[in-house]
Amino acid sequence: MAQLDHPFEHARDRIHMVEHQLRERGIHEEAVLRAMQVVPRDHFVPNHERERAYDDCALPLAHGQTISQPYMVARAVQLAQLSLDDIVLEVGLGSGYQAAVLSRLCARVVGVEIIPELAHAARRSLAELRYDNVRVEVGDGSLGWPEFAPYDAILVAAGAPKVPDALVEQLAPGGRLVIPVGDQTQRLCVLTRTRIGTVSRSYDRCVYVPLRGAAGRHD
Ligand code: SAH
Repeated sequence: MAQLDHPFEHARDRIHMVEHQLRERGIHEEAVLRAMQVVPRDHFVPNHERERAYDDCALPLAHGQTISQPYMVARAVQLAQLSLDDIVLEVGLGSGYQAAVLSRLCARVVGVEIIPELAHAARRSLAELRYDNVRVEVGDGSLGWPEFAPYDAILVAAGAPKVPDALVEQLAPGGRLVIPVGDQTQRLCVLTRTRIGTVSRSYDRCVYVPLRGAAGRHD
């Protein structure tokens, strides 16, 4: 097992991040702020980016992918309105950071990543921190992950050209789908499954790497 950093090494950076990048910009759910406070983002970024782990920006991962800006992680997680007994699907596991945050706020996370090397690295990072309520799957999550459906919430961490029907179908009644929709830039959208259909609202403008796979982008 890799040597872990001293757990308190970045505690001050995290407090600063929570206060100035999150609370001041409208992240108000205490449980979300607490999760962002405890999960070590420095553990999920590449070694040479560790000094920048708590900067107010996305950071590069291997294979041209990115770990999202802390604010966008908190924003998407807050919009998912999680309860401690929820089962959550994350499409686009990347480094595993957002899954780690989710794992503090629900019962179980299924994280799907299409690039096997990233999935394996994320699995290792999550295991080192003993976040053992996250299950990592390698594959195309653009069509969801039917094996463990229905989900109380689904978060997509890559920009989708349109909302994949399969993801809506895998929501439990009352379930929330949080997904960036658009091409070069996106809007973070939330679809809620109700008894009479789905209700959709759009929120922040954002820029995510493209969602690939069957219901993703093909350019
Ligand atoms: N949530 C991540 C950020 C992920 S970036 C984190 O916290 O680090 C988006 C990720 O989505 C990339 O790793 C990319 O490989 C992955 N991805 C893109 N299309 C996908 C698909 N169809 N299924 C699963 N993962 C996909």
